[in-house]
Amino acid sequence: MKLARAGPIVVTGTAGFIGFHVASRLLRRGLAVIGVDNFTPYYDVGLKEARFAQLCAEPGFTPMRMDLADQALVKALFSDFQPSHFVHLAAQAGVRYSLADPHAYVQSNIVAFLNVLEGCRHAGVSHLVYASSSSVYGANRSIPFSEHHGASHPVSFYAATKSANECMAHSYSHLFGLPVTGLRFFTVYGPWGRPDMAVYTFTHAIAEGRTIEIANAGRVWRDFTYIDDIVEGVVRVLAAPPRPDPDWDSRAADPATSSAPYRIYNIGNDRPEEINRLIAIIETALGRRAVRVNVPLPPGDVLKTRADVSDLRRAVGFAPATALEDGVQRFVEWYRDFHASPVGRERQAFIQA
Ligand code: NAD
Repeated sequence: MKLARAGPIVVTGTAGFIGFHVASRLLRRGLAVIGVDNFTPYYDVGLKEARFAQLCAEPGFTPMRMDLADQALVKALFSDFQPSHFVHLAAQAGVRYSLADPHAYVQSNIVAFLNVLEGCRHAGVSHLVYASSSSVYGANRSIPFSEHHGASHPVSFYAATKSANECMAHSYSHLFGLPVTGLRFFTVYGPWGRPDMAVYTFTHAIAEGRTIEIANAGRVWRDFTYIDDIVEGVVRVLAAPPRPDPDWDSRAADPATSSAPYRIYNIGNDRPEEINRLIAIIETALGRRAVRVNVPLPPGDVLKTRADVSDLRRAVGFAPATALEDGVQRFVEWYRDFHASPVGRERQAFIQA
């Protein structure tokens, strides 16, 4: 990956699942990474500490434990490090929890995002890449989800904050010429994954012989996307900032006639899989049968997701392709190793399925 005007790269959410993997990949390429996280207790903080500890052992990594919703701290971050590129993956994630604690989403997804936009604008960052989500498509019936079709009716508050991020990013790009790309991730899984998400939850419960709750009798489809594919997409996009149209003008009355350096791409597998099949794959990988109980589809969830990745492929010559069997096998191998390690054994009681 070649980055024009390469200075330090800030990656936020580096104690989190995706941020940890993105930071690892950039460090392996010899780039200097400032890793920001505030270790929210949304899920097991010990798992976050374990990820972060690995990054701290890498040369080129500068850890920053801070809350991005704190305006003064974010200002100081930019003035201390003068980053050339910014990968913003910190957020309050999770569809269901957004019904329980919406204020956490306003702090981490709206206030923090505004602080990041302001910092990038004043520092003249060459490219801001941030995480959006497939959830912005809501109950969109038009499958696959395309960036060119409407994404204006989010069905959870989490999705509403991600939609708001896209609007906020567009306004900063349009007003100030900030090169910015939003990435709509589709159900990401893999080693070091999130213990609140299906692949981890099901694996953990089946391994321990506990019951798993299956919504809508498993007739729910997700475009499961393997973490290495997400990372590949992020680093390729980061190296390819959008350029403004030559006649771009922030005073244009109609932004559609003069486009700002602003892009949105889906990153998903373009191959939705039924939850029943996911469970069967996990059962095979673990060599154990699941004990199932059926529950209704929770509010805020949608029945099916599928990414149209033609724009991503056109822009960076890549789209995710890891088969679910291969990705789950790698996850289960990691799961076994991690839970057999001293740190993982300690985590066992905290990682709730
Ligand atoms: P994660 O929860 O594992 O990581 C997010 C990290 O951000 C956490 O470690 C958390 O402590 C940190 N954070 C939250 N608020 C913060 C704040 N105010 N200041 C500093 N740090 C803060 O989630 P993830 O799965 O790695 O997701 C990364 C990004 O991708 C998020 O924006 C998420 O919404 C988005 N996303 C993820 C998925 C997925 O399937 N994992 C799908 C779509 C979108």
